[in-house]
Amino acid sequence: MSFSRITVVGLGLIGSSVALAARARIAGIRVTGYDADPEVRRVAREIGLCDTIADDAADAAHDAELVVLCVPVGAMGRAAANLAPALPADAIVTDVGSCKASVVEALQAALPGHTLVPAHPVAGTEQSGPTAGFATLFNHRWCILTPPEGTDPAAVDRVAGFWRALGAEVETMAPDHHDRVLAVTSHLPHLIAYTIVGTASDLEEVTQSEVIKYSAGGFRDFTRIAASDPTMWRDVFLANREAVLDMLQRFSEDLALLQRAIRWGQGDALFDHFTQTRAIRRSIVEQGQDDARADFGRTHG
Ligand code: NAP
Repeated sequence: MSFSRITVVGLGLIGSSVALAARARIAGIRVTGYDADPEVRRVAREIGLCDTIADDAADAAHDAELVVLCVPVGAMGRAAANLAPALPADAIVTDVGSCKASVVEALQAALPGHTLVPAHPVAGTEQSGPTAGFATLFNHRWCILTPPEGTDPAAVDRVAGFWRALGAEVETMAPDHHDRVLAVTSHLPHLIAYTIVGTASDLEEVTQSEVIKYSAGGFRDFTRIAASDPTMWRDVFLANREAVLDMLQRFSEDLALLQRAIRWGQGDALFDHFTQTRAIRRSIVEQGQDDARADFGRTHG
């Protein structure tokens, strides 16, 4: 049984994509939007993002069957608490936060007694704001549900059906496990990109203009990730601290091994390592999670 009235709270990249995808793919759905930022609400109205844009969180939620919280993870508790007084008792609440254990805790504290089916669509870009969204963002991407123990299975099924309707493939996981998996597949790569881009721009003997001019040597691919939203990523690292620090420790040990191999001229060790990593790229392409064309399909005309 799908939803006919949903409320999207937070109309940035992910919220606007949820609104667009729901309206494009679920017949007869009515989408109400709300964002704390009046300028975002103004733009959302101007581009006709939702059927209605509310000026108040309570107005947005009063007749919702499903609420989708699309705010930074550090703001989830506050956003949920603002809805609480008006939220219908039988409404289901989901979210799109990039870390789950801390978000589940915050939502449970803010909405006691409500049905919560937290989610993380593993899809995004480096853009932010209400004009950054697009209806196909979730197509063939995974959406991981992390329902707290004891959640009504029928509610989990309905939320799974909602994400499938938006084009996603759905998987269910415990919140802590999700946070460890994403620490290595998403959070650590972002931290590395933020570091490399910072390091390159701090070098004294290489000028900024040279870094930019020769960026096609690899650097520019890190800059896409390092251009991601600062608020979102500050919150992710604060919220998933333990798992990120653990993965960072392992990464540092592996980096030290490569450093040693370079220092001692161990070409075979380097070659074997790079052969394994190349195979991982092939698996990602084979599973439809990236473009098979060289250089991510960029045109070189
Ligand atoms: P975004 O483009 O910055 O949009 C977030 C919006 O939420 C902003 O307009 C923000 O307004 C608004 N907001 C903040 N606090 C609010 C509150 N209490 N009530 C209502 N609105 C509020 O961010 P995004 O990239 O869409 O990310 C949203 C969520 O999706 C995050 O939890 C993130 O972890 C998750 N996610 C992101 C990606 C990605 O690639 N970007 C992928 C998967 C999941 P202000 O700017 O005024 O604060």
